[in-house]
Amino acid sequence: MLKYSRVLGAIVGAVALSTAAAASAAEVNLYSERQPFLTDPLMEAFTKQTGIKVNLVYMKKGMLERLKNEGLSSPADAILTADIGNLHNHALAGVLQSVSSSTLNSNIPPQYRHPDGLWYGLTVRARVIFVHKDRVKPGEIETYEDLASPHMKGRVCTRSGKHYYNVSLLASIVEAKGKAAATTWAQGLKNNLARKPQGNDRAQAKAVYSGECDVALANTYYMGKMVTNEKKPEQKKWAAAVRIIFPNQSNRGAHVNISGAGIAKGAKNKENAIKLLEFLSGDEAQQIYAERNFEYPVKPGVPLHPVVASWGKFKADDVFLARVAEKRILASKIMDEVAYNE
Ligand code: FE
Repeated sequence: MLKYSRVLGAIVGAVALSTAAAASAAEVNLYSERQPFLTDPLMEAFTKQTGIKVNLVYMKKGMLERLKNEGLSSPADAILTADIGNLHNHALAGVLQSVSSSTLNSNIPPQYRHPDGLWYGLTVRARVIFVHKDRVKPGEIETYEDLASPHMKGRVCTRSGKHYYNVSLLASIVEAKGKAAATTWAQGLKNNLARKPQGNDRAQAKAVYSGECDVALANTYYMGKMVTNEKKPEQKKWAAAVRIIFPNQSNRGAHVNISGAGIAKGAKNKENAIKLLEFLSGDEAQQIYAERNFEYPVKPGVPLHPVVASWGKFKADDVFLARVAEKRILASKIMDEVAYNE
């Protein structure tokens, strides 16, 4: 009996080992700048659906430097980050490879992906205007251009002009109206500031709430995060003081940006990495993004979070974000030229 169970144990052990070996072969290595509260449920769902294990390395900062240093021997198969600026910089640095996938191309509208497949957008956020509910009258501000007009003197708050979000917004204006008009806008916006650029997007809502300014620039998902913030309930008050204006609805639409992903140049698990991106652009993952982070799904038809839906429909600037990204260096120089942060 003892002998028999030993043999059985050996057989069971061998089977277990071969299963483990197969499982470890099906894996993908992901470098991510997106926060674990968001990526954990996404990766769990991916592994559950495909059996592919995800080895995720979360980096708050320094992902691009690390990829450059590691070169082709980098263990990374794919990267996840936010903002067209970050995606563009990875593409420029040559750490990504171009891939093509009919699933990605049908899930993701063309303006939200690189024309040669170097990166793919996975979620959309609009850069909107937060205005004080009472101090700003309906119709008083409807466009980004209005932020720079004389009636807004001393009433505007923004974070640093050199932050990715503001550089991308300015780049979209360069793309739409040219360098001279974009410079005039940046100068006008600076002239209207109530205080030196400081803080993050939520800090601008706080400043509107506290009366330091009447209007501010911010990304949509921060509104969702503030409205529902049980850990820091004071943020609910900031959110309650402001309403969202989707700018430029009667012309080019509101500037939107993306979070996205790309396949690493030296990917050793390229097929699995493509499967991961395809999964992230599909219905299940798109819904997790929408529910967890108040972002707009990149895939048309995926339901919005009720809080996000409550802000109403809006028209997005449908310029190809790859074109906007190419204007970012110029936009950043314009911010310096007008000494935006000084
Ligand atoms: Fe953000």
